[in-house]
Amino acid sequence: TERSTTWNWIDGEWHPGNPPIIGPRSHASWLGSSVFDGARAFEGLTPDLDLHCQRVNDSARALGLTPTMTVARMMELTREGLTRFNAEDAVYIKPYYWAEGEGIGTIAPDPESTRFCLCLFEAPMAPEGTAISLTLSPFRRPTLETMPVNAKAGCLYPNNARAIVEAKGRGFDNAIVLDMLGNVAELTTANVFMVKDGVVLTPAWNGTFLNGITRQRIIGLLRADGYQVEERTLGYGDFLDADEIFSTGNYFKVVPVKRIEDRELTPGPVAARARELYWEFAKSAQ
Ligand code: PMP
Repeated sequence: TERSTTWNWIDGEWHPGNPPIIGPRSHASWLGSSVFDGARAFEGLTPDLDLHCQRVNDSARALGLTPTMTVARMMELTREGLTRFNAEDAVYIKPYYWAEGEGIGTIAPDPESTRFCLCLFEAPMAPEGTAISLTLSPFRRPTLETMPVNAKAGCLYPNNARAIVEAKGRGFDNAIVLDMLGNVAELTTANVFMVKDGVVLTPAWNGTFLNGITRQRIIGLLRADGYQVEERTLGYGDFLDADEIFSTGNYFKVVPVKRIEDRELTPGPVAARARELYWEFAKSAQ
């Protein structure tokens, strides 16, 4: 077959590259009704693909769209699409819904006009040994009353984008973003964990951040391995004083933090163990 770094399944056919699918009258391009999820294929593994497919359907419903695909069908299409890549390629798996038409009051999407695309593209994993620096973002995560934060929706990401741009502009790799109460929520596109005196801590889900699939997986794996993991309300001061910090997300899985503001941190044993447990889980679940 033809070689491409991107393949899209739309209405029963595979298309290479970046075909035009949304017009100027589409609700999605005008008023933001697009939801997506991001899973990964790497080293022949696709951990928690079922949960990512389930979540995109939940995200669709949260924005008033009607999901048209079952989890089983999305997984089957993903496997079919992955055969178009080299077995050693790492691939980003993006199931994606949007609305074409307008519904109630023009601003709401017409649920009957929901469309689906499965987009797969090559995206390398972080090289072994990657570690990041963090600062505090001046921007905040909205609450459930102000945005549908429980959905993985494109319309939420301009806020994350300005947070990462601002942090990089000051020489940091990423930023800790607080919620509107001033508690730590997450990083710009990943969840965040810290370790203090042997206890693993991560913000308790309060509706202000994405309750990551990797986050929930890592909590379970660390607990099963004997770690004490607590979901708590945490302030930025807790992180400034942490023994270890690491992030979790589908894209790079577990990434340790090497610096917070001007304080150096040594990538530590808990992050290393979490990474190891994740890979063991991914292999055993395949
Ligand atoms: N928060 C945000 C804002 C994200 O975009 C992501 C990446 N999907 C995460 C957290 C991590 O979630 P997950 O582990 O489900 O990829």
